[in-house]
Formats: sequence, C-alpha cells, structure tokens
Amino acid sequence: MNVLVTGGAGYIGSHTCVELLNKGHGVVVIDNLVNSSAKAIERVEQITGKHVDFYENDVRDRAALDRIFEKHDIGAAIHFAGLKAVGESVQMPLEYYDNNLFSTVRLCEAMRDHGVKNIIFSSSATVYSGTNQMPLRETDVTGMCTNPYGWTKYMSEQILRDSAKAIEDWSVVLLRYFNPIGAHSSGLIGEDPRGIPNNLMPFISQVAIGRRDHLNIFGNDYDTPDGTCIRDYIHVTDLARGHVAAIDYMVEHRGESVFNLGTGIGYSVLDMVKAFERVNGIKIPYEFAPRRAGDLPKLYSNPDKSAELLGWKAEYDLDDMCRDTWAWQSKNPMGYGE
Ligand code: NAD
Ligand code: UDP
Repeated sequence: MNVLVTGGAGYIGSHTCVELLNKGHGVVVIDNLVNSSAKAIERVEQITGKHVDFYENDVRDRAALDRIFEKHDIGAAIHFAGLKAVGESVQMPLEYYDNNLFSTVRLCEAMRDHGVKNIIFSSSATVYSGTNQMPLRETDVTGMCTNPYGWTKYMSEQILRDSAKAIEDWSVVLLRYFNPIGAHSSGLIGEDPRGIPNNLMPFISQVAIGRRDHLNIFGNDYDTPDGTCIRDYIHVTDLARGHVAAIDYMVEHRGESVFNLGTGIGYSVLDMVKAFERVNGIKIPYEFAPRRAGDLPKLYSNPDKSAELLGWKAEYDLDDMCRDTWAWQSKNPMGYGE
C-alpha cells in the first residue's frame, strides 16, 4: 500500500518510513522541515535502499495535498506532522492550535475528497487526565490537559473520532505514545532537537557527547522509590513497528480505535542515567534541581490492548534504547548538522 506520511522527516516519522519500506509499503512524505532536515529522508533511503517521494510542503496547504493525492494512489495516511514542545506551546498557544489543529482538519478534508479512508494519528499519553491510576488503559479518563500542546492532541482525537462517525467507511486509529527514545540501530537516523533539549534522553546524550556539562534532574522528592519521576520509555523502532501493525489492523476494521504504544514498564530518571552510564561506559554528571511544572510523578501504560488486537509488543529493552541513542549521537555529534 502507498502510505502518506506527514512529518516523515521528523524523529518518529523517519523511523516509521524505514519500517514501512522494509515491509514493502510505498512511502510518500509531506514535511515543511520546520523541525527537521531533508537529510533524514536521504538516510531513510540509504538504510532501506528504497525511494521515498518527498514533498517539502505544509500540511495546511490544501493545494499541495490535492496535488499529492492526485499524483499518488494513497491507501492510508499517518499523521505525525505537528509542533510538540510543551513549554513552547504555553508561550505560543495560537501557533500550536493553528499548526496542529488545522493540519489535521485540512488533511481529513483532502482525504475525504480524494476517497482515502484510513488514517493513523500520533496522539500522546498526555491526553490522559492526571487523576487516573497507573497503568493507563485506553478506557481511562482523558482531558483536563495541562498545556496547549496536550489540548491539540485531545482536540485532534475528537476531530478524527467525529470524522470516523460521519464519513462512510472511514477507519481512524489513534495511537497514544508513551516516551519514545533511542534511534535506528544503524545510527544513521535519530532524534535531533533544535536548541536545548526539553526531553530527558536527548539531554543525557548531549551531556555524554560534551555539548552540555551536566544534567539537571527535575525533582528528587516525588513519591517514587528513588524520588525521581517514572516514565514508560519505548524504543522508537518498536514505536514505528506499532504503526505498521496498525496499518494491517485498519484494513480489516472500520470506525475509530485507540491504542497505547508503550512497554508497560516504568523507569525513573535515575534509572535512565545509570543505565546509560552502564551500557555506554560514560559518566553523566547530574545535579538535582527543582521540580518542573506540570510533571506527574508516574506515567506508564498498560499495553495489553495493542498486544491483543494489533499483535504488537515492544521488543527492545532499556539497554538497547541506551546503546542506540549513543550510536546515533556519537556518529552524529551535531545531529543532521544544520
Ligand atoms: P518531530 O518534530 O521530530 O516531527 C514532526 C515533523 O512534522 C517535523 O519533521 C516537522 O518539520 C513536521 N511538521 C510540523 N508541522 C508541520 C506542518 N504544518 N506541515 C508539514 N510538516 C510539519 O516530532 P516527533 O517526535 O517525530 O513527533 C511526531 C508526532 O508524534 C508529533 O505529532 C508529536 O506530537 C507526536 N508525539 C511525540 C512524542 C515524543 O515524545 N517525541 C510523544 C507523543 C506524541
Ligand atoms: N527530566 C529531567 N531533566 C531534563 C529533562 C527531563 O529531569 O533535562 C525529567 C522530567 O522531569 C521527567 C522525565 O525526565 O520526569 C521525562 O521527561 P521528558 O520531558 O523526557 O518526558 P515527559 O515528561 O514529557 O514524559
């Protein structure tokens, strides 16, 4: 099947392109490169030995979408494109609502008008409300988001859910990601944040390569075994394969479905630091710093529904995640170098 991958030059998108191509799917990417490099697409081609049709356009550009749907026989779309920095979304809510919501609406309209019936959406564990017990299940309460980024995911889910009800024969799969880390085992593609990394693992690996002198650990007085926050980290290749499994699933199922993509295992910030040090033989200097606003002490998934219905389970462990993060960072000290 030909799959339209929006945001396919980005971190998760590029890894998903690799897994789709490896499974024999055709890949068409639309990405405006606001947070990525065209080099990622070249590297995807290098890893797979296969061609990617790449369009440097904004997903909100309806004319560009029309041209793509007219030129290629698209069977499904995977919608990764969006802005994703939580803190920035608080500073720039209108940019986040504009980008993340209008891209979803324009893409759905174009799909409807061109008769494309299958869409997978990059949602997030952030849509779950903070009142739920761990581990999180797909049936748990959503909403009460703590920042505009989270609301764009919540609202996009609703837009897609309503579209699945209204447009005949549509299939919508909402994938709620936990914490993707790691990189392709080749070290050719990986996460390349612009500016100071917001997320833990890119920060650790920039300390390891010498771009930052130490890690600040935000809070060591949480109600967890070592006082630092617990998250469900998942290897990005496992996450990418979850999308391939969702493509197979959606061909057989109409309407809306929602799945967690996580491992179900929680690790603390200190666990992550120690694992990175042990696996890669590199010391990570750190200091304890005040809590970061909005952080929940524990966040991890129950991934049983994905195992049962998608036939998908995370296969890589924490050591693999640490090893592959470092393979990417050490081979590409400045990321894609732009
Ligand atoms: P990323 O920034 O690396 O990738 C997003 C891509 O979308 C980038 O290549 C960017 O240039 C592109 N883009 C953004 N707005 C666009 C637009 N209007 N038109 C065309 N292209 C546009 O981020 P990522 O980590 O790969 O995340 C992919 C998706 O997964 C995002 O929707 C993100 O919100 C979601 N998600 C990510 C995480 C995470 O921890 N990385 C967790 C949960 C959900
Ligand atoms: N974290 C940290 N220092 C950093 C970045 C993150 O201590 O420089 C902590 C953060 O407070 C959280 C965990 O690492 O407890 C994971 O943070 P990340 O931003 O990667 O994921 P999220 O909080 O969005 O799940």
